[in-house]
Amino acid sequence: MSDSKKRGNKLRELENYSESSSYRKIKCEYFTVEGFSRAPVMTFWRIPEYKLGFDLGWQPWEFMGTPRWFLSHAHMDHVLALPAYIARRRMMQMEPPTIYVPEQKVGDIRQFLGAFCRLEQSVLPCEIIGVRPGDEIDLSRELVVSVHKTYHTVPSIGYIVWERRKKLKPEYLELSGPEIRDLSVSGVEVSYEVRFPRIAFLGDSSPRGLDENPDMYKADVLIAEMTHVSTQKNEPRQTPGHMRVEDYVERKDKFQNKKIIASHFSVRYAQRDVENCVKQKLPDMLGGRLVLV
Ligand SMILES: [Zn+2]
Ligand SMILES: [Zn+2]
Repeated sequence: MSDSKKRGNKLRELENYSESSSYRKIKCEYFTVEGFSRAPVMTFWRIPEYKLGFDLGWQPWEFMGTPRWFLSHAHMDHVLALPAYIARRRMMQMEPPTIYVPEQKVGDIRQFLGAFCRLEQSVLPCEIIGVRPGDEIDLSRELVVSVHKTYHTVPSIGYIVWERRKKLKPEYLELSGPEIRDLSVSGVEVSYEVRFPRIAFLGDSSPRGLDENPDMYKADVLIAEMTHVSTQKNEPRQTPGHMRVEDYVERKDKFQNKKIIASHFSVRYAQRDVENCVKQKLPDMLGGRLVLV
């Protein structure tokens, strides 16, 4: 049996072992969103079809196959699984992963990983890339990720994944295939780019992070946070750097998304209380588009 086949068998064996680990799989039009988030316990999401993930507060075993991760900020519940993830990929002889992090935290993240390397007397091969709002990361001809400023209690960023396509400029629509090819070969730019925001990840942020990045309201799928809801015992506090259910109510006409995934509820709420409160404040669940995870 080849080495890669052996590795594949081992992975499948261990996937069975991790079946009990709980996270949600949400089928969307163009992709699946898998993950879970609770403040201040863990946040981790991935889009298997795009081979990328957001935040590494936890790492189900089978998520290690995803080679690129975009971190929103360096709070423990969003980065704690980073060393385990890199070590697992090394152990399974997978390519070193690429991790995008807020540029202010590159040094600290390297030190964090360095401490584990010293503890284990081993190495954690990976590429750490610092990014800042305004940056764009080309993933492929079809996919690009943009970086956006968000508002939390530590340096934080959000991301939008765009699908892009080339379209023929209207002035060349009447031309034949060979004519277009000749023009293109002669150096004329015959096409232009169109972009579709497929998925936006807010990370931890006050609503200002959404309001200042209106493309997040337009993405097919928005993964956002709703840290605070109200219950009989708890009225929502206006904590800095987070969102409350009332922030969604105030903005209910802004969401153009096909699906809005709200998560990162504080662990002090029971899931039943979360659902009751949100359904009371937003009875139509934003036209059935709001998913509570
Ligand atoms: Zn958090
Ligand atoms: Zn945080």
